[in-house]
Amino acid sequence: MRHDANLTSDRPTFVTHLECAMTGEHYAADMLHGLSRVGRPLLVRYDLEKAGQVLTKQALAGRPADLWRYRELLPVRRTENIVSLGENATPIISLDQIGRSKGAANLWVKDEGRLPTGSFKARGLVMAISMAKELGVTTIAMPTNGNAGAAAAAYASRVGIESVIFCPADTPEINVREIAAQGARVYRVNGLIDDCGKLVAAGKEANGWFDLSTLKEPYRIEGKKTMGLELAEQLGWELPDVIFYPTGGGTGLIGMWKAFAEMEALGWIGSKRPHMVAVQAEGCAPMVRAWEAGERHATRWNDAHTIAMGIRVPQAVGDFLILDAVRESGGFAMAVSDEAIVAAVDDAARLDGLLLCPEGGATLAAWRKALGEGLISPDDKALLFNCATGLKYPMADQSRTLDKDGPIDFSAL
Ligand SMILES: *Cc1c(COP(=O)(O)O)cnc(C)c1O
Repeated sequence: MRHDANLTSDRPTFVTHLECAMTGEHYAADMLHGLSRVGRPLLVRYDLEKAGQVLTKQALAGRPADLWRYRELLPVRRTENIVSLGENATPIISLDQIGRSKGAANLWVKDEGRLPTGSFKARGLVMAISMAKELGVTTIAMPTNGNAGAAAAAYASRVGIESVIFCPADTPEINVREIAAQGARVYRVNGLIDDCGKLVAAGKEANGWFDLSTLKEPYRIEGKKTMGLELAEQLGWELPDVIFYPTGGGTGLIGMWKAFAEMEALGWIGSKRPHMVAVQAEGCAPMVRAWEAGERHATRWNDAHTIAMGIRVPQAVGDFLILDAVRESGGFAMAVSDEAIVAAVDDAARLDGLLLCPEGGATLAAWRKALGEGLISPDDKALLFNCATGLKYPMADQSRTLDKDGPIDFSAL
């Protein structure tokens, strides 16, 4: 089946309104919105009863495996506004060797590196850009640590929207180049992602940019929520016991949590939830600090540093949504060292043949640490998130050279 079989105009959507995640105040659908009046994220609400009459488990079973199969639970009204690069469902892969070494039979990775532009940012940005198109935006601007900018640039160019992207000067080279190659104007900034965000805020009035920063528009969460729908469906509507999520702005964790609630309302799953684990790096762990202090909001983490750029986010506008989900789920927040991240990436590739990105490595490092501390058991069904292809990141050169013209001792190879 062609993937675009999901992109038919007879698939209605069931959005009723938007709602401030902090105050519950309602906002009209089908209008351009940024943050709510109190400066917090807006959540999209649906008529789930009506949606559930059309979108049943049986209906899903007959649709191609991409994120548009959940169309009735997504915000885009008009099919012609959907800008797709083939947002395929991503596989869940077991880490057998690593699991066995700890006596665990159920260690899985959802490998999001298989998506367009090589990261799960495609899920969020395909939705944000499709909605930007639907609502008449002509230029978007955003700060990025790399992958979000790449996905935004690709989808924006595809649909004829201009994009202006600001990234920290030390963003991985391949990200900066792919952003430019995909048609954006990209600037390296001598600061962190929140400094880049301030440039967007400062320039948007005068330049007519629409601010596409994480959670500052309502639709990236809706795209990311498909991870929760998809993993539930892939696991036979039985959620894992624990999910390890590498947390920067937290869009995916918040999105999955929302998906679980919507699925329960639809009668697709029960009330059991996975323990949600927000994984951060020791060099940038504002959620871990707030979680340990029992606070609902996190203060800015100064001098943030880690090799896992995707989670080098000193401050998140959705902090309370991340922390609420972690607490309600009986999960926890945990920081891991860069050394543990490197070791995890190395082991997953060498032992199980799966090349993780550093952020994915962080989730494996956290799983090991949590096992060691008795926070989880080897019997728990654990799902890690690998959020980008490992191929985007620098790798150590471990090759050796051969001289084809000289004598070669083949027995030594
Ligand atoms: C953006 C990103 C993250 C963090 O995702 P959030 O949902 O924003 O917390 C993790 N890993 C990679 C590779 C990323 O690009």
